[in-house]
Amino acid sequence: DYTNINSEKIENLGGYLEVIDNTGEVIFRKGNPAMKIDKYDLKSFNEIINNSLELPYSSYDSENSSYNYIYRTVYNEEKDFLLIIAIPRDSAESFRMNHRKLSPKYFIMLAVFIALFILLLGFIVYSRISSKNFVRPLKLLIEGSNKISNGDYSARIYLKSKTEFGELRDVFNGMAEKLENEKMLKEKSEELRRRLILDISHDLKNPLSIVLGYSDYLIKNESISESESKRYLNVINQNALRANNLLTELFEFSKLQSVDFKLKTEHLDICEFLRELIASYIPKMEEKNFQYDFDIPEKTIIAAFDKNHLDRALSNIIMNSIKYNPNYTHFIMTLFTINKDIIITIEDNGIGIPTHLQKDIFNPFVRVDASRNHKSGGTGLGLAISKSLIEMHNGSINLESDLNKGTKFTILLNNSLIS
Ligand code: ATP
Ligand code: MG
Repeated sequence: DYTNINSEKIENLGGYLEVIDNTGEVIFRKGNPAMKIDKYDLKSFNEIINNSLELPYSSYDSENSSYNYIYRTVYNEEKDFLLIIAIPRDSAESFRMNHRKLSPKYFIMLAVFIALFILLLGFIVYSRISSKNFVRPLKLLIEGSNKISNGDYSARIYLKSKTEFGELRDVFNGMAEKLENEKMLKEKSEELRRRLILDISHDLKNPLSIVLGYSDYLIKNESISESESKRYLNVINQNALRANNLLTELFEFSKLQSVDFKLKTEHLDICEFLRELIASYIPKMEEKNFQYDFDIPEKTIIAAFDKNHLDRALSNIIMNSIKYNPNYTHFIMTLFTINKDIIITIEDNGIGIPTHLQKDIFNPFVRVDASRNHKSGGTGLGLAISKSLIEMHNGSINLESDLNKGTKFTILLNNSLIS
């Protein structure tokens, strides 16, 4: 029913529609053609068909405005009529161009699609970056932790990061370093303990086997002269004394290491204390023709110290100087204060301590004469005990020595001055 055709869009474009019956007569029209034809003949049809081909605009068309249209025809077989739709060429062009432009709906869909695509792309890139920023540090941390749990405390994490992972790395490495240091200390103290037991057994074995040998000989031989047996008894006595000395010093040394050990600190005149101490060694020095000088202030200097244990610490150093140095050695002892600290120096110009032993000389059983012959008789515990006691006084002991030039011990008692 061509009368019901909605031709609004066509007319809006300036086009029109016509219905032609089988004689070529126009029986229906909507819109305004530039040139009205009421009855089409074969010639005009020919022109319409040629112009419908959308061929480039011809000069022939420009002369006649009726051909500035693009035509389409629909033939209705049942009712035997032809419908012609004509749209001005210009409008058709621009209409087509407009349709080529994106419709808002299509545009939104495309925009959403692009946005989703960018989002997806961003997500992929982000997950790549975050895997680098999260997974790698985590992997390194797990690797490091596994190493530590397997006992490899040298494990460290090498990671460039300014985030929390950087902090974690520092904490981890700090922890690993602490564990490594503790392991090393433990191994060192274990080694020291082993050596201590070895030294003790060695040092006890010698005098005890002498005691056993000589006493056995005395028991088995009744015909020994009195003078001979006295000589043997003397050897037994000497060696028993040596073993006893070692055990006494060892007992004292282990007491110092115990957590229950505490100093009995008093406020006393340290100058007076030192004068009395050194006075007790003057006879021994004179026996060996020592030359001695003491520089101890005449005034009263009150300090906090445990007199018995400081006596023990300094006595060993003074005794060493007398024991290990030749006759006519020059011995100097001084005391002075710097601010609240007390400094005591004990010096001699004797045989000195070889450089290679200086850093170990404060360790238990370290002696220059490693053979421990009974002549010098020492156990090698003296300076270890002195050092422990001085450190308990919140102090430190320092050694300067040159072979054949002499030895100087400087004892610093931190902050112990009272007045
Ligand atoms: P102990 O004191 O237990 O009887 P010791 O005297 O052998 O034994 P330390 O007092 O620790 O042990 O001394 C260690 C070693 O240092 C001594 O054996 C000695 O070789 C050396 N020594 C210490 N003081 C002097 C010194 N003033 N001059 C030379 N050598 C010294
Ligand atoms: Mg000694």
